[in-house]
Amino acid sequence: MSTSRAARPHYDVVVVGGGHNGLVSAALLARRGLSVLVLERLDHVGGAAVSAAAFPGHDVRLSRYSYLVSLMPRELMAELDLDVSLRSRRTASFTPTLRDGWAGGLHVHRPEDHRTETSFADLTGTEAEYRAWHAFYSDVERFAARLAPTFLQPLPTEAEARALADEQVWTDLVRRPLGEAVERRFSDDTVRGVVATDALIGTFASLHDPSLVQNRCFLYHLVGNGTGEWRVPVGGMGAVTDSLARTATAAGAELLTGAGVCAVRADADGAEVTWDDAGGRHSVTAGHVLSGVAPWVLGLLLGGEQDDTTKPAGSQLKINFLLERLPRLRSGVDPTEAFAGTLHVAEDLSQLETAYRQAASGVLPDVLPGEVYCHSLTDPSILGAAPHGWHTLTYFGLHTPAALFADPSTREQVKAEAVRRAIAALDEHLEEPLMSCVATDAHGRPCLEAKIPQDIEADLAMPGGHIFHGDLDWPWASGRARLETPAQQWGVQTSWDRVLLCGSGARRGGAVSGLGGHNAAQAVLATL
Ligand SMILES: Cc1cc2nc3c(=O)[nH]c(=O)nc-3n(C[C@H](O)[C@H](O)[C@H](O)COP(=O)(O)OP(=O)(O)OC[C@H]3O[C@@H](n4cnc5c(N)ncnc54)[C@H](O)[C@@H]3O)c2cc1C
Repeated sequence: MSTSRAARPHYDVVVVGGGHNGLVSAALLARRGLSVLVLERLDHVGGAAVSAAAFPGHDVRLSRYSYLVSLMPRELMAELDLDVSLRSRRTASFTPTLRDGWAGGLHVHRPEDHRTETSFADLTGTEAEYRAWHAFYSDVERFAARLAPTFLQPLPTEAEARALADEQVWTDLVRRPLGEAVERRFSDDTVRGVVATDALIGTFASLHDPSLVQNRCFLYHLVGNGTGEWRVPVGGMGAVTDSLARTATAAGAELLTGAGVCAVRADADGAEVTWDDAGGRHSVTAGHVLSGVAPWVLGLLLGGEQDDTTKPAGSQLKINFLLERLPRLRSGVDPTEAFAGTLHVAEDLSQLETAYRQAASGVLPDVLPGEVYCHSLTDPSILGAAPHGWHTLTYFGLHTPAALFADPSTREQVKAEAVRRAIAALDEHLEEPLMSCVATDAHGRPCLEAKIPQDIEADLAMPGGHIFHGDLDWPWASGRARLETPAQQWGVQTSWDRVLLCGSGARRGGAVSGLGGHNAAQAVLATL
């Protein structure tokens, strides 16, 4: 699928970084007849959207980093002829609880039905909490349904976006720290926490943070395709990337792997891009350069000084497991139901806030909040030849910022303790310890792979291990923004006219959405 050397000295477009967004740009532009070269430093494309056989001796293909898709517009998938099916999970979420010595749980079914209502009433002792839940998400969904179609258009202005929302929703989601709405609308700590977690995925903040970064994260998690539903890509994330790479190469784009870009020298007419590969150092010129790497990394490639004060910092702990069986829960709830959606662990609002405070003060939270997913319940195809009953399990932990692991001399120790605390928080709700269910690999080691932000940075060159290349922006142009050039209108501009952002760091680019790639391609096409 990839070539070993560039075929020409000059390309209409060179894409730096072969993540899924770079592939989207490459496919769209090559289809329009432009010559396109994609340069990827790793030996494969896809960036954080890949599947991997992470455990020696097992051909199970895990979505190693990102795992669920919501934000990729179905129109874009159709335009790219993506041969990927996204499957709904039959459980939206399950939150195991321990109250007064009683093991229970809050079960949100998909679609929600009378069982969901009963679950809320059993946990909270009132019907009011489900009514509040239903009202809140109906309000948000109305806004999402109107906002989502703008993602494939030039940026709306803030005033235009404002007109799409009911007044209260705009205030709750955009004007005031999200914690205020969560505390006003809900009274139960667990229910509040289940709502709040969407604001904290890959985002290190209090629900009351005045920066509102948590509100932006929340909005992206709720608007995908107008419903905010997160679905499992059949075949894993690698299926998304493979399909994109096929479309890009079929359209004539050249994908060069093992090519680490070391410099982009831009001028008014284009740029020269230089990279290193096994054969040495090479350069080509380009009419446009699209950056699929983080804006902070692009700054270095353009010759800027490394400024650690502006470097993004990730905050998540990702653990992949391979299990011989799903663990039984103390509540007695069927694990194939409980683990089929998002299983929230230690994510009551009070626990989230305590963990944030502890992490912000420089210590590992005593009780780590996180979420657990079993993708093989929805898509058994990723299990390969694994025995019947085996499953993958993915843990995504919150509030473990890179700073906690900054000291290289204690990093492995702190990481091991974080993993221990993550597992302990889940074990609280299990009838049998998680580790008793974990398979072993060909070397007799437990099938457990943990990644702190420093690991993500080392693997993927996401600066600071930030999963979105930097904190998310509002998906509209601020009142003061200049919208004169196509790049500004599509939210993909840099300080150079011929160098555009096409990755997660573009406005609206975060997550596996293809939006950064699509929007950069539109900005290039608008200049032709
Ligand atoms: C652990 C984790 C879990 C996540 N979970 C989800 C999820 O479930 N759903 C979701 O929607 N999003 C999720 N995300 C976020 C999502 O994966 C990213 O926002 C998205 O993949 C970014 O895609 P991209 O193409 O913009 O960039 P990337 O995937 O970062 O790709 C950039 C590419 O550029 C390459 N590169 C970097 N520097 C150079 C260089 N100098 N020269 C050449 N190539 C270079 C990198 O190797 C990489 O392949 C997750 C991310 C992580 C890390």
